[in-house]
Amino acid sequence: MSAQLHSIPFGMPIIDDIEKNAVLEVLDSGVWVHGPQTKAFESAFASFTGAKHALALSSCTAGLHLAYFQMGIGPGDEVIMPAQTHVATVHAAELVGATPVFVDAETVTGNIDINAIEAAITPRTKALSVVHFLGVPVEMDRVMEIARRHNLKVIEDCALAVGSAYKGKHVGLWGDVGVFSFYPVKHMTTVEGGMLITNNTEIAEDIKLQRAFGVDRTVGERAIPGVYDVVKLGFNYRMNEVEAAVGCKQLERIQSFLKKRAENDSVLRKALQNIPEVRSLESGSANGTPTHYCHSVLLNEELKHKRTDIINSMKAKGIGTSVYYPKPVPHFTYYRDKYGYKTDTFPNASAISYGSLALTVGPHLTGDDMLIIARELQQTIKECK
Ligand SMILES: *Cc1c(COP(=O)(O)O)cnc(C)c1O
Repeated sequence: MSAQLHSIPFGMPIIDDIEKNAVLEVLDSGVWVHGPQTKAFESAFASFTGAKHALALSSCTAGLHLAYFQMGIGPGDEVIMPAQTHVATVHAAELVGATPVFVDAETVTGNIDINAIEAAITPRTKALSVVHFLGVPVEMDRVMEIARRHNLKVIEDCALAVGSAYKGKHVGLWGDVGVFSFYPVKHMTTVEGGMLITNNTEIAEDIKLQRAFGVDRTVGERAIPGVYDVVKLGFNYRMNEVEAAVGCKQLERIQSFLKKRAENDSVLRKALQNIPEVRSLESGSANGTPTHYCHSVLLNEELKHKRTDIINSMKAKGIGTSVYYPKPVPHFTYYRDKYGYKTDTFPNASAISYGSLALTVGPHLTGDDMLIIARELQQTIKECK
């Protein structure tokens, strides 16, 4: 077997002895849930984002589900959703019995087309969800103006947007809640995990109970061991101490991860300008402070049909790529079957899903790696033509 030309994986969490030692300390302590690490992580994340409340959870999906659950959104209610997002954004509302109503993307950044939101609102619309696509902040002042006018709750999916801000305010703080993901290859990781932020004390107090069965006291708060009351319906969606310990250490290093991503993105963006067959998605308006989960390019009409060849050829050269997201959510079998969406709907989200290629800018890579990616992409395009 011949050795691969390069070794540039798409995603790779950066974990070293700092995290490993923190994990061992938690395991040795015997306190694995409801402990000091979770409290410390929440408090550090609250100060990093400027949020009044931060609640550590088992995943971003859990946080989104809790948000709809706390808000009492359910059957008969409609929730506005971006068509171009991770399916978790939509599943969370579907899980409480609400009906997702999809809005197409705009093709400059891939974010929800704000101009198309109002046409999707009906008397049944109760909430509006946005995703900061690949870390690019949505223009939240415009979204909030629409939400206020129609009295809608706003749920921000910030899974790929730790560190992203709009007009100087961290994403997740514009709407009622913002939820982040710490899945292995996201901006920072806890192995698995999520965080919900909000400035609304009532929402925070409810979700604090609802993430752990609706039980009114944690183990440490019980005067008589084993004795507690249940004041709400709830889930088991908390984060454990091992995950929180990893999170504390990752958060201490987040600025260096984000800086590396931004540098890589800028080197790659410049190098890709030499390839007329691809167009980079933009990082948003002057008012936004983006972060860079990856660098997505739209392939031109001719190349679009050769995407699988390009992906395989890059892979053979040792360069990982990905696709965000493989289909607009309404085109996935579950949603198509349930709501009857046709596959020629949502043209802009479709253009991104079916015609883009995601290149990596992860902090495990250098500027030289970015130049290799651009050079090999150019070469691959020549070979595929
Ligand atoms: C990863 C991701 C999620 C799901 O996050 P989990 O922590 O795995 O539940 C939700 N939304 C978006 C936009 C994502 O990228």
